[in-house]
This record gives sequence, C-alpha cells and structure tokens, in this order.
Amino acid sequence: MERMRELVDLLNKYAYAYYVQDNPMVSDEEYDKLYDELVALETELVFRLPDSPTLRVGGETLKAFQPYRHRERLYSLDKTKNIEGFEAFLERIRKAIGSIPMLTLEHKFDGLTLSLTYENGKLVKGATRGDGEVGEDVTAQIKTIRTIPLKINYKGTIEVQGEGIMRFSAFEEYNKKAAIPLKNPRNGVAGAIRNLNPKVTAQRKLDFFAYNVGFHDGYRFSTQEEIHQFLIDSGFLTGAFFHTVSSSKEAEALLAEIDKNRASLDYLIDGAVFKVNELALREELGFTEKFPRWALAYKFQATETTTVLKDVIWQVSRTSKLNPLAILEPVDLMGVTVKRATLNNYSDIQKKDIKIGSRVLVRRSNDVIPEIMGVYRHAENSREVLPPEICPACGSPVRKDNVFYYCTNEDCAPRIISAIDHFASKGAMDIEGLSEKTAEQLYNDLQIDSVDKLYSLTREQLLGLEGFKDKKAENLIAGIAASKKVTLSRFLYALGIPTIGKKGAKQLADSFRTIDGVREATAEQIQEIYDFGGVMADSVVNFFADPKNAEIVNNLLIYINIVEEDEPPKDGVFSGYTVVFTGALQNYKRSAAQKLVTEAGGRIAESINASVNLVVAGEDAGSKLNKAKKLNIRIIDETEFESMLTNSNKN
Ligand code: NAD
Repeated sequence: MERMRELVDLLNKYAYAYYVQDNPMVSDEEYDKLYDELVALETELVFRLPDSPTLRVGGETLKAFQPYRHRERLYSLDKTKNIEGFEAFLERIRKAIGSIPMLTLEHKFDGLTLSLTYENGKLVKGATRGDGEVGEDVTAQIKTIRTIPLKINYKGTIEVQGEGIMRFSAFEEYNKKAAIPLKNPRNGVAGAIRNLNPKVTAQRKLDFFAYNVGFHDGYRFSTQEEIHQFLIDSGFLTGAFFHTVSSSKEAEALLAEIDKNRASLDYLIDGAVFKVNELALREELGFTEKFPRWALAYKFQATETTTVLKDVIWQVSRTSKLNPLAILEPVDLMGVTVKRATLNNYSDIQKKDIKIGSRVLVRRSNDVIPEIMGVYRHAENSREVLPPEICPACGSPVRKDNVFYYCTNEDCAPRIISAIDHFASKGAMDIEGLSEKTAEQLYNDLQIDSVDKLYSLTREQLLGLEGFKDKKAENLIAGIAASKKVTLSRFLYALGIPTIGKKGAKQLADSFRTIDGVREATAEQIQEIYDFGGVMADSVVNFFADPKNAEIVNNLLIYINIVEEDEPPKDGVFSGYTVVFTGALQNYKRSAAQKLVTEAGGRIAESINASVNLVVAGEDAGSKLNKAKKLNIRIIDETEFESMLTNSNKN
C-alpha cells in the first residue's frame, strides 16, 4: 500500500508538471512505466486510491483562462504496446457483442487535444481537453492556426475533436531563431496554445489534425469512415493514414507499415489508434471512467527518454572540426543502450543551457547517434560545459569560426585517420576490412597519411602489422582492389568535401555527370542545385582549388575507374520515372518523399531536364512547375503522389 501511495503522489506530481505547466519532469516513457506499475498494483489489490491518476483524464485547467464545459465529455485512450494487447482488446469486444467488428486505424498524433465548436457554420469556440469535462477557452489562440477552418458548410452545432500539433519543420525553423529553444514539438504546441498571448501561438506555426466529431445535432453519422469523410469535406486536415481493419493479422501488417514510415512524417506520432467503425456498436460497448471500450491506442517504442549527462568531450573530425560529444549515463532507448549523443556545437550547448551533471532529454530518430534536445533538470552540482582551448588530440591551438572550433594542425592524427575511415566507409568507397582501427594502424605504422596512398599498399607491408595474417592482409588488398570501380556520387562523398554529405554528392553527380564536370563547375553553377546554398557551393570549389586536394584526386584517378550510377530497382510503381519535386508537401519532408520514390524504383532529378517525366507539385510551386508545363511533363499533386505510393505498398 505504501508503494501505491508513493506511485500516486509521484504520478500526480509529474502529471501536474506535464498537463498544467507544460514542463514535464520525466520522459513519457518513464511516466508510462510508473503508470503501468500502478495499474498492475491496483489490479492485484482490487483497490484504488481516490486520487489515483487511473481514475482521471488529463489535468487541471489554468486559472488564467476562462473555463469551458464541453458539450460531450472527452476521454483518454486505453493503451497497449504489443499485438497481444490488441488481441485481448478484440477478445473483450467479441465477448461483449458476440463477434469481431470492422475497426478503423489511424495515426495517434502526439500534440495537444483540442475541441472546436461550430455554430451556424462558424467557429465559435476552441478549448483544451482539461479534465475531459471542463477545458480552457483558447479560442483566440486556436484562431491563429491556419489549418483550422473558420467556416464550415454544416450549419448545426457541432464539436470537432483533434490534435494541435507542431510539425518538425516548423519546430526546427522556430528553434533556429528562438532565444530559448523548445524541447520537443509536443511541448511546443502545448506551451503555444496555453499562452495568454495569441501572437505567441501564431509564431509557432501550428497545425490541427481532426479525427473525431463529438457533440452534434441534426447530422446522422453511422460510422467512423463517415465522420472521417465529413471532416475532409468540411475542410479539415486529417492524418495521412486511414484504413479499415478486420483481423489481427491485417492489423499487425499495417502497424508495422506505420512504424516503419513514421520517421519520414513531418509530425510526431506516438502510435496508432484502433476504433470500432460502427457507431451503434460503440454505444453497446460504452466507456470506463477514463476511456472508451471501443478504441485502443497502440503505442510504439518511445523515441525519447531522459538521462544524466556525465561529460562532454571534443572529437577531431575529418574536416578538423572539434565536435562536442555527450557522454551519458547509459539508458535504454528503442531497444538499444545509448551511451553517447551528439550536441551539434558550442553555441547550441549554451542555448539549450546544457550542463554536466544535469538530466537531459535524448531523442533517437533515423540517425544512428542520438541527439540531446534539452535539459530536463539541473542538479545541485551541475557545471558549465567549457569550450575547447587546445585540440584535445594534438595540443595545437584552436581556431573559432562562427559557432565551430577547429584544430589548426593539418596533420592532426585523428583528422587524417577519420578521413581514411570515412573514405573507406559503406556509403563511400566501401572498402571491406578497412575499419577505423585499421586506418589508425595504417597511419601509425605504414605512414598512410592520405587516401591515395591506400592504392599502393602491398600484402607484404600489411603482414608487418599487428594482427594481420595472410587472410586478413589478402582481404584488405582485395577490398581495396574492388573499390577501384565506383560511381561518381560515392567517389565525391568519399573525398570528404566539407558540408557535402551523401545526398549532396548524389546531386552533384546527377547535375554534372563527370568528375571533370564537378571539378570545373563554378560556384554559381553549383548553387543552382536545389537546397545548395552559397556555403556548400564555395566548399566544393575551394576543395578542388586546394593544391593538396587536387594532387590527391589526380593520384586517385590513376587507379580509380568511375562508372555509371547504380541502377534503381526495376519493379516499383515509380520504375521508369525520373521525378522532380517542387513546392512544399504537407505530409512529408522532401527528402523523405524522394527516398520513397527511389525505394519504389524511381530516379530523382533536381531540376527539369530532358530525362524528367514526372513532377510532384506541392504548395507554392514556382518556376520548375512552369517549366514542366511548357515541356508537357506529367504533373501530379500530393494526393495523387500518395495514392501511387499506396498502390506500391499494396503490390
Ligand atoms: P494519450 O495522449 O496518450 O492518448 C489519448 C489522447 O490521444 C486523446 O486525448 C487524443 O487527443 C489523442 N489522439 C491522438 N490521435 C488520436 C486519434 N487519431 N484518435 C483519437 N485520439 C487521438 O493519453 P493521455 O491520457 O492524454 O495522456 C497520457 C500520456 O501522456 C501518458 O501515456 C504519457 O505518455 C503522457 N504523460 C507524460 C507525463 C510526463 O511527465 N512525461 C505526465 C503525464 C502524462
């Protein structure tokens, strides 16, 4: 019982910080773990304390806002994290109504629940969920959200429920300029709407995804599908995903698809929601104190957690830049133990007020190495992170350029070693058997201090290295020999031109076609490539103008044979298409959309040329769209693009 009291107090404290103050003290994952423990304890003891969070929805309302009583109560959702939990949900329904009905499945948006009231076709009220019965009147704030229609065709009284969200693109844009960066899009949206000044709300560029109709008079809906269609017809934004499901097997496949694609969405989802489609059946199933019995949230593994920052070290990169690396108290996140995280640069550390000893918020996205988003709590003995004064590897003085620090020693060992390691890496020359450790041995023992020298290595030399026997030496020689045939994009990426990653290298290769074309290109020509700014263009030009680099490239070209770009797979729905994207897409980042095209057999081009035969035009598409029209190239919008993808997924 003591533990139950402890859990209830702790969870109530955390819920207050989360719902009322919009300033969580722990990650959702940690909160959910304690919550699950409480549920288990309450089930075992068949007892609940009167102030248990399992009896309540959400949090209190802020006094500063006018209270608003919802016409129909808003609920929370029952949750599961695995397919067994979903099957148990189906079984409960089957017991109650005698069969398994059709369900709908959609994204679970991670933002702030909102309810909008329309009367006579006009938006009259916007409110937060609050405790489900009484929320806060935030009408002035939500009117700044462009995706909330101020007028709808339906003329009766109706409450539309949905989630206020901040897209990642809006979040990143905001944080670039903000004096105090936001920790994550969820806090960003909650803090913006529950702010007395609607101007602050407007600055955050929020969106609203509608998913339900609560109270309504006069209109007769009979299914969730009809509600969904009504919302679309009324001009609301709904999620990119809406499917019907009638078996556990089907559900499992769709959940896997959503989970796989979630990183490419421009908004945060923390799961997916199943709902019984037919409203008459919902009435039969009813509600508990906290949630409907006809819906279930399937939560994906959290992408965020918190842990203690133990230290910050500075690592010399292949461009001489000193990168701060966070050393963390090991923590489990998405099934792996996270011990290190990136911190971008010193100015970012200062802006986020990151201190050693503090508890920090860590997020994993598609990237391998997680990122620190912000501070959760400072500790009494938290201390400032100091910028590097000398290079930690060679002791040379450092140079500061903009927000970055650089080692001034061209021959700094870790710089050279990581340049060799990068050259040999998978997306680059892909030299099997050349790990970072081997690069270190080659540098230390065989004086390989530039990548061209790899090609004159002999088996005999390698046999002199520690741990190298016949097989290992032969494998490395074979690996080096195999790398002599390479595509232009891989070669350019392997060179390690500052600011040019894999995507930039591919764009350069697609635009200029040959190594001479790239070497001779002017900064103006390079800047014409989409997303290439002046910094990137100058970086390419300066790289090839440097006599040392020029010599290395010339030496490499003695051995290396540049071949045609890899052919994309032939069997996708975009096979045979060379696609140009122009304008802003609503539901995808451009890079993610391009990836989906290449995965489905297509090629990507950056500008309209003779090989382009499909243009996907988003909002505010400009000159490329006009050019495409002139050339009679097929043009599709985002909806058509999505339906092509859906077809490709069905195949
Ligand atoms: P929830 O937010 O996990 O789920 C219910 C909500 O999902 C609904 O209110 C609805 O707004 C939303 N939703 C999103 N997409 C939807 C869709 N398509 N259809 C229907 N509803 C949809 O539950 P909750 O009760 O609001 O909050 C509990 C969660 O909040 C916890 O699991 C925890 O992760 C988090 N929390 C964290 C802390 C913390 O300290 N970090 C504290 C309290 C709560």
